[in-house]
Amino acid sequence: MQNLWDEQEACACEGELALRVYTSRLLGRNQSLVLHGGGNTSVKIRERSLVGDDEDILYVKGSGWNLEFIEEAGFSPVRMAHLLKLAKLDVLSDPQMVNELLTHMTRASAPAPSVETILHAILPHKYVDHTHADAVLAVTNTANGEARIREIYGDKVVVIPYVMPGFDLARVCAAKFPAEARAGTLGMVLMNHGIFSFGATARESYDRMIELVQMAEDYLARHNAWALPGRRQAAITDKPLRTRAAGLRRNISRAAGFPLVMQVHRDDRSLAFAKREDVGVLSQQGPATPDHAIRTKRIPMIGGDVHAYAKTYADYFERHAPAAKEPRTMLDAAPRIALDADLGMCTLGRSAKDAAIVADLYTHTMDVIERATLLGGYCALPEKDIFDVEYWDLEQAKLRKSGKPPVFSGEVAMVTGAASGIGKACVESLLARGAAVIGLDINPAVATLHRREDFLGICCDVTSEDSVITALEAGIRAFGGLDMLILNAGIFPGGTPIAALQTNAWRNVMQVNLDANLTLMRECHALLKLAPRTGRVVVIGSKNVPAPGPGAAAYSASKAALNQLARVAALEWGADGIRVNVLHPNAVFDTGIWTDDVLAARAAHYGLPVDDYKKNNVLNVEVTSHDVAELAAAMCSPLFAKTTGAQVPVDGGNERVI
Ligand code: ZN
Repeated sequence: MQNLWDEQEACACEGELALRVYTSRLLGRNQSLVLHGGGNTSVKIRERSLVGDDEDILYVKGSGWNLEFIEEAGFSPVRMAHLLKLAKLDVLSDPQMVNELLTHMTRASAPAPSVETILHAILPHKYVDHTHADAVLAVTNTANGEARIREIYGDKVVVIPYVMPGFDLARVCAAKFPAEARAGTLGMVLMNHGIFSFGATARESYDRMIELVQMAEDYLARHNAWALPGRRQAAITDKPLRTRAAGLRRNISRAAGFPLVMQVHRDDRSLAFAKREDVGVLSQQGPATPDHAIRTKRIPMIGGDVHAYAKTYADYFERHAPAAKEPRTMLDAAPRIALDADLGMCTLGRSAKDAAIVADLYTHTMDVIERATLLGGYCALPEKDIFDVEYWDLEQAKLRKSGKPPVFSGEVAMVTGAASGIGKACVESLLARGAAVIGLDINPAVATLHRREDFLGICCDVTSEDSVITALEAGIRAFGGLDMLILNAGIFPGGTPIAALQTNAWRNVMQVNLDANLTLMRECHALLKLAPRTGRVVVIGSKNVPAPGPGAAAYSASKAALNQLARVAALEWGADGIRVNVLHPNAVFDTGIWTDDVLAARAAHYGLPVDDYKKNNVLNVEVTSHDVAELAAAMCSPLFAKTTGAQVPVDGGNERVI
């Protein structure tokens, strides 16, 4: 445990709330303490209201905020006096509790207060910190976890048996804490859930959290249950797995009823865990802490029998739903984690970001499970407790509120020539519609085109079959499969009449504009066939196909041949449900080829001002990369579900074509 407190940084914080923000961020920076919205913190501050009353206000982490990036606006101010009265009630349903919290805030625009707000209120200390520390969970989640916790901490903590978070937990703590706290008590351990620390200052509470978690780590180390081997990522080229991965993703997506992005994690630790002889026992116990189940489901799938997993999930729902206070709606029955001896740990979500969060949660869960196993045996909560959190009122309400996902949510697209012009615009149009995008380009700048989880830029020469295969392998490991392919990469050499056209120059154009696309189509076919909502290909052709121009023999011939290749693909792949359509753009000037000088020269050649030259078409409009990209994205959407083999111009209307 590293104590990240920095006196200089702390001095820059003005006021009690600013220090609360500061140490909350310190906790958030350590992933072994909190992950993705887990954990919460608070501070009690006396304030004078507008009408002159002095009142104690609990500033507690608001929902939707992660501790790592929290700001003052992320804390919800709730009146302490009311919270202490609520804590004395015998019963309070979750929706009632949420209502009471929301109606007793002093700032209407604040986020909804944490569900653990009342628990923060009843602890008689100014600053309260709460984490789901891995080390503490590795100790609590064992058969004799409570005895071990008492052995580690003695009077330093009050131990609370597992109770579902919310009002019931607050009530139990309100009764147990005052009865069991001693002079030297620094915190509270919640079995199978996490740990609290508290203090008179932000620093004291933070220091105590680090101290208490360190004690758990030391205990694990003393019992040879701390050190685990490091994580090294296996090489992309070690073994082709793309078709298997895409098949698994297709089956899981079908069980879910919607497409999911799947990340394949083949680091040493994940592979070793997936290959453990006892993985079928260890991984099926349940999550490290119940709130993980909302994202990870209660247990991972072992191997690839999605049907059996879905059946087990439906049975689990049937077993526990009748006992719930209100009728429950079953979530989809598909797993969010698959453990496989070859693929390692596969994590799934409706977006690349969601799949990455699942991976983070389970990576820490594997640590907790392995350490608890070394300590004598991992032991999760009974499935009923997990069900209660997974199907919590508050979670089900969020579900009802969440709107329709974007059209390509959970889908994966690949774009060639992605670093500039039409390709770059296609990447943006697809990302904007919720797809995860693999961008290929010979320009290494593609790697850093977008720094976000749903984009993978790969520097790739598409004329090299090896490079294409390596890129596909990497792309499928990142996102799990391929639903859409935009063939855009191409070159347009300067005007050369046939009488002067050298064979090498001709072959060079054919290699990029034609041969490379054969390789891409051939290698992608098996993957597109496995697309959960059927595959789609959009080929960026050219006006030169229906209306060639003098001096562009190689370009026009290559695009015409590509057009014919696409038409044959449309015929051959129809039985697989794959749609192949062609766009014929013309005069798209916001691309790398068209520098200001080239544009001015061409306009002068036609005796037109540059602006008129740009709009020299039937509709008298300028056609941009964005226009082409939006049409390419639309062609992948359900709008074109019944269209294949089509050739659509996007050129403002060309007299020679019409
Ligand atoms: Zn918690």
